[in-house]
Amino acid sequence: MAETSPDLSLPDLSFADAADGVIAMAHYAGAKGLVPATSGNFSVRMTATHAAVTATGANKAALVRDEVIEAEIAGAKHPRASAEAPLHLVRYAHAPEIGAISHIHSLAATLLSRRHEAEGVLRLEGWELLKAFSGIHTHETVMEVPIVPNDQDTDRLAMLVERRLRESPPGFGYLIAGHGLYVWGATYQDVLRHMEAFEFLLTAQLYEEGRP
Ligand SMILES: [Zn+2]
Repeated sequence: MAETSPDLSLPDLSFADAADGVIAMAHYAGAKGLVPATSGNFSVRMTATHAAVTATGANKAALVRDEVIEAEIAGAKHPRASAEAPLHLVRYAHAPEIGAISHIHSLAATLLSRRHEAEGVLRLEGWELLKAFSGIHTHETVMEVPIVPNDQDTDRLAMLVERRLRESPPGFGYLIAGHGLYVWGATYQDVLRHMEAFEFLLTAQLYEEGRP
């Protein structure tokens, strides 16, 4: 009799383990000043159908497990979900390789996303720290980070983002103009590294453009 084997490429984490990853990312970003005034959100995929996501309004620097919710990736909205939860959940639905996502409102991401909005993309090129991203082995790399316009209707924005990402080379994140950065990876540990690398690279880019 044929058996269906589980999809080994997808994680199978308990809510507690996934929430601990959410808390680790939130505390890191909070300590670095990347999520001012309760902004930003963090999530870790539990399974094909569920993810642990920060609840609305929490102070990310002091996030505790009660402020993390278990959300259905393609189901009804959780009553305590943040307004930006759809931007996380739609990513999980479209990209099975993504295991964790972080969204930050850092100064460098906010400024550069607005400055380059008309081009629709920010190019990061020639920096040694590009090697911090999974699968990149040389500074001789051009990373094109898509920029989408901001929108308070986050369901509509999530659909726009997915359309845009389908037309873009595979990457690690995107910018929302005048708003901030989304960054992902296979695990929350990868996202911690990618978040730190993005923040360094965006700050370097800002200084190189001569208008920090
Ligand atoms: Zn935001």
